[in-house]
Amino acid sequence: MSSTPLSILKSVFGYSHFRLEQENSINAVLRGEDAFVLMPTGGGKSLCYQVPALCLSGLTVVISPLIALMKDQVDALVLNGVSAAVLNSSIPQHIQAQIIGQVGRGEIKLLYIAPERLFAEGFMGWLKQQNISLFAIDEAHCISQWGHDFRPEYLQLSVLKREFPKVPIIALTATADTITRKDIIEKLKILPKNVFVSSFNRANLRYFVEPKRKAYQRIKKIIEARPNESGIIYTLTRSSAESIALALAKDGISALPYHAGLDQEMRAKHQDMFLRDDVKIICATIAFGMGIDKSNVRFIIHHDLPKNIESYYQETGRAGRDGVQSDVILLFSGGDVIKLRSFCQIEDNPAQTRILVAKLQQMANYCEAHTCRRQWLMNYFGEQYEPPCNSCDVCLGERETIDGTVIAQKILSAIFRTNERYGGGYIVELLRGTSKVKLEHLNLKTFGIGKDIRDADWRFYIRELIARGIISKTDDEYPILKLNDKSYEILQGKQSIQLSKPAEPVEREARKPRTRDRKLNAAYDSDLFEKLRTLRYGIAKRENVPAFMILSDSTLIELATFLPMNMEDIRTISGFGTVKTEKYGQEFIHEITGYCQENNLKTKVENKLLFDHQVAKSEKRYEERKGTSNFDTRRTSLDMFRSGLSVIEIAAERLLGVGTIEGHLAFYIPSGEIVLEDIVTEEKAKAIRAVLRAQGWKKGESQRPIKDALGDEYSYGE
Ligand code: ADP
Ligand code: ZN
Repeated sequence: MSSTPLSILKSVFGYSHFRLEQENSINAVLRGEDAFVLMPTGGGKSLCYQVPALCLSGLTVVISPLIALMKDQVDALVLNGVSAAVLNSSIPQHIQAQIIGQVGRGEIKLLYIAPERLFAEGFMGWLKQQNISLFAIDEAHCISQWGHDFRPEYLQLSVLKREFPKVPIIALTATADTITRKDIIEKLKILPKNVFVSSFNRANLRYFVEPKRKAYQRIKKIIEARPNESGIIYTLTRSSAESIALALAKDGISALPYHAGLDQEMRAKHQDMFLRDDVKIICATIAFGMGIDKSNVRFIIHHDLPKNIESYYQETGRAGRDGVQSDVILLFSGGDVIKLRSFCQIEDNPAQTRILVAKLQQMANYCEAHTCRRQWLMNYFGEQYEPPCNSCDVCLGERETIDGTVIAQKILSAIFRTNERYGGGYIVELLRGTSKVKLEHLNLKTFGIGKDIRDADWRFYIRELIARGIISKTDDEYPILKLNDKSYEILQGKQSIQLSKPAEPVEREARKPRTRDRKLNAAYDSDLFEKLRTLRYGIAKRENVPAFMILSDSTLIELATFLPMNMEDIRTISGFGTVKTEKYGQEFIHEITGYCQENNLKTKVENKLLFDHQVAKSEKRYEERKGTSNFDTRRTSLDMFRSGLSVIEIAAERLLGVGTIEGHLAFYIPSGEIVLEDIVTEEKAKAIRAVLRAQGWKKGESQRPIKDALGDEYSYGE
């Protein structure tokens, strides 16, 4: 071993300390052991194999499913002076031959290939003659059928261990769900002690959900509040991607569409323009993003509801990979849920259909939740999180509340008087007294008592009441509203209730980006930042690579914060490794010195050390807080339940009691992650409630008499 990991991190990549579980993963590999690394998008997985690759004497082979990404990674490495290459079928034969020659002479440190390459004619034989130090399997979830992106070629990777028993394997993924994780570990036979799970919290993202109203106008406002920033707008359909891009362009905003309906060449062109900052906004279907490593995407807008939390998290994860504060905004409408239901119907596969519907329901629950978004997401992924996060719409207190008791009573009484047989839409018609109300309901007291409140606002209130468990809702395709104990408390005036005020969304000021979530009064100079951004854009054009590859936005922010004015000082800035310092240092120093002279500013480079120290400390606290909650046993049950297994099946599979599993699942009911009716049938729930009421049972009292009254068909868990 020629250099230590830390010295490589500093000299090649220009970073001062390791993040999350990077160091532990690297050390495991350097001990010659296999490792499995779980980190969220943007966490820094690449360095977990790139650093060892440079410490070890031989070749590191990186297996990755995405050709576009491989090329970007290689370009980025080359900019840092690392000899890396990619072999794939899109590369001309003579260049391939050249690369093979270089590998043979030991001139290449990292070789990127697609999995199918391994099994191409003669390749394995050739590989065995090379001095291989490490295999890195990127996007390792592709090996699991449970994952969202299964690729059969990945299954064959299990031969690596047989063919190269002495070479360590490091597998990496950002997949969060426990079943997929377990499956990967089993398939690759990695020691449990070398499974490195980092927190999935993305501290630099701010989460917003708002009602979808006048969506286009809203999108335009969001973009206008963020001039010069790159953003992605996700839509469900090609046609809305197309029409939004067109409308934005007409309004003078630099935007292009991206979807599977465009031909290959056009797609590649639009993607490339986005990467290079030649266009600011991409309006895309989910076809966009898999191959995108652009680190300075500053916001993501979901124009339509994603199909499940996993997709949502992955798509929002594409913002702020560089650690700079970025916003993700979802425009939610209940209508989207109904629209998406039809996509969930898989012919002749009720089990699969059930999973998809349940996942969609989770997505809707998230939007309708009135608790910290970050906490909700972290719980979903099996982590604890203490709110407030101060960076989601809920914690930022963007909801104003009003006394909603009378409003709620009107809604509940409309449900009551129509015998709990209608959905939210009809209840609103009734309250507003429209012509759609049935003859038999025209005489009801509730008919037309809500004319003064807008249609959309009534719907908004109903959603909130459902989210807070004050109205129950059946799980049918067109859900029916039902009353429950909480409903009666409000109806009878025993309880009052505050409701969110449904206001027109107002544009919050696009706050200035700050580096990672760590405050150090390190407010940076935004004018200088713009100047540096322009300088970087020029260099990127000259070198013909995307600007974020030259230096990331977070590097520019550090420059505009600490104002280094000589070569020695600029080396301390994250992202300035040896090669980049030599290549671009002078140009940036020149720009900064000029600006500081004009504005009478002094360098603050001495603060940089303090800053790094703080960051390293909070990084550590983070890991400590995280504890071992990731492989939380409750979570495993939840994941299995979501994958379509029944309580009994889970109990059998996990060798645990039915009651235990029910306990696990019950934990998720208050947060809305599990809907009560998913575990207990509606009839049973009704019967149980009736007995509880009849016996006047209170929390904490023995459950025995209730169980006895109900009989053997009911379990304690139920
Ligand atoms: P992932 O593959 O997990 O999505 P990347 O490997 O692309 O993430 O890293 C995301 C960004 O974070 C990159 O710009 C990378 O250079 C940066 N990064 C990674 N590790 C560190 C570190 N220890 N210090 C500072 N920046 C880092
Ligand atoms: Zn929050």
